[in-house]
Amino acid sequence: MELFVDTHAHLDFDLFDEDREIVIQHAIENGVAGIITIGVDLESSKRAVDLAEKYATLFAAVGIHPTECSDVPDRDFDVIEELARHEKVVAIGEIGLDYYHMRAPKEVQKNVFIYQTSIAQQLDLPLIIHNRDAHADLLELIATNSLAKTEGVLHSFSGDEAYLEQILETQFFISFTGNITFKNSKMEHLVKKTPVERLLLETDSPFLTPAPLRGKRNEPAFIVHTAKKIAEIKQISIEELGQITTDNAKHLFKKLNI
Ligand SMILES: [Zn+2]
Repeated sequence: MELFVDTHAHLDFDLFDEDREIVIQHAIENGVAGIITIGVDLESSKRAVDLAEKYATLFAAVGIHPTECSDVPDRDFDVIEELARHEKVVAIGEIGLDYYHMRAPKEVQKNVFIYQTSIAQQLDLPLIIHNRDAHADLLELIATNSLAKTEGVLHSFSGDEAYLEQILETQFFISFTGNITFKNSKMEHLVKKTPVERLLLETDSPFLTPAPLRGKRNEPAFIVHTAKKIAEIKQISIEELGQITTDNAKHLFKKLNI
């Protein structure tokens, strides 16, 4: 059976409170060898670490999301740093810029991002990056000298081909979600353009459920639908795609011990 790593899920969300254990079991039965559950604020980061402690298949990322970054007390960043030292915390994330919701001023978002990248560098952890409508500023941040040796992923990639080309010139990985399976998706050429060596798989559960399950809550087991679509675009077998993207995930997330 093919093996996948779901590099982006939010299994701490209360949408999974009723059946979290079953969702994880379902993922394992569907070839998911590892799931990174991602914190969006301090409490959610703590829950992510608790879940990673409880389930062998689960790993965590900790961080403050750009929509949650206004008025964060300094102390919270110290706790994020403490959490990040946990053996099952594989990345700092999700962090980034969100100019669509704009819940904090741009300068605040940038400062919170930069501060968290310094935690990542200190602990030699990669970044999991969220970017919504902030292409130019985000590129400027990740292309700075201070991040020249820091690795990471631009999750749920959005942007055009020119932007993709610019990101591919950096060392960052790219991941696409279930939205590439939508009938009206105009992202096929982006998947085609991204070398498979730079790709990661993700679901972004509980969001962005792939076709043919659109409308349902997303869960890691559904990664197979996105993987199938990418394999089809790349004209390789799904087994090969699983193998390469799992190797990529293990390369990027050095603490991902699967
Ligand atoms: Zn997310």
